[in-house]
Amino acid sequence: MSAASGPEIDVADYRDVWVFVEQHEGEAAPVSWELLAKGRELADETGESLVALVVGDGVSHLAEEAVARGADRALLADDPVFEPYRADPYGEQFRALVEARKPSIVLIGGTHTGRDFAGRVAVPAHAGLTADCTELAVDEAGLLLASRPTFGGSAMATIKCPAHRPQMATVRAGVFDAGEPADGTESAADAVESVEVVVAEEDTLSTVLERVVGGVVDITDADVIVAGGAGCEGDVTPLVELAEALGGEVAATRAAVEEGWVEPARQVGQTGKTVRPHLYVAAGISGAVQHLEGMNGSDVVVAVNTDPNAPIFEHADYGIVGDLHEVLPALTAMVREK
Ligand code: FAD
Repeated sequence: MSAASGPEIDVADYRDVWVFVEQHEGEAAPVSWELLAKGRELADETGESLVALVVGDGVSHLAEEAVARGADRALLADDPVFEPYRADPYGEQFRALVEARKPSIVLIGGTHTGRDFAGRVAVPAHAGLTADCTELAVDEAGLLLASRPTFGGSAMATIKCPAHRPQMATVRAGVFDAGEPADGTESAADAVESVEVVVAEEDTLSTVLERVVGGVVDITDADVIVAGGAGCEGDVTPLVELAEALGGEVAATRAAVEEGWVEPARQVGQTGKTVRPHLYVAAGISGAVQHLEGMNGSDVVVAVNTDPNAPIFEHADYGIVGDLHEVLPALTAMVREK
């Protein structure tokens, strides 16, 4: 990809891999630790430091946790202006830090929040931004290789940015392993640097009038997913009931979504969400490669299919050959009895 237009820069001035630690009310979004673990790998390969950027109000514990989880240091912008989240103070704080500190690589979760403010950092830096990546690597020159599905998911594009910095990407939740949680955060505080807060309430343009929680479901956080495909034949009640009994979420293949049986936010796969639950029940799903791509990081996969030769069985830890309209209610009854 050609360099974004903008002032000439010396790429040698730019160092380190930055990961934005997204949080909500003091709790880290899972994608933050996934990116931190991947960022550690990239920083080790380029021989640079891994820096966590934590923005919020009363979030120093997350900066310490980021260090305990492998960041070499954390930059902490802690101020009431950052709560509740708004794109303009986050974007301005992040922009000012990028301008002053000159990171080489900046990784942000491809979440509603990350997508909302990442452009406010990339545009003033003339950096460009590879959005919604599903793979990250570095080449032999230490350049970021950011890959993402393109042409409606029928091809992967790998984008690199040789002439400009920082190299910025937003990354889908669920595509990387978050690794083990930290044992403790003792001594991590030494590696946390509180940075100057450059935004003031009177300078912010937006005001949050009301916060409505709910609406669009986020299946990427679910520990248990019961997914259905074309084999549901219009009746997703068995999925809903088993998901309820297990305390999980319902998901679906593109085929089931296109039929209108399940809402699009619950689609798993190349053009849907990437999920990594502990348990993934795949019912009436054939196991197309585009679907597998979204769920093959699941810990345990249970497949239910009438066709003993369905490809999904090759990717399942447990397989049940049978009609999902009989098998799922039987499983639900067993779970409820426990
Ligand atoms: P089918 O392939 O039709 O399989 C249905 C299965 O149900 C069969 O194995 C059948 O034996 C079984 N079955 C039937 N009746 C029953 C029953 N009563 N009980 C139990 N089993 C039963 N797909 C995705 O899922 N996600 C994506 O993000 C995605 N992106 C795509 C992007 C591109 C560019 C393309 C070209 C395709 C994409 N697809 C995606 C579509 C994908 O190729 C498959 O067509 C789709 O995953 C098939 O869905 P399915 O398994 O529900 O249906």
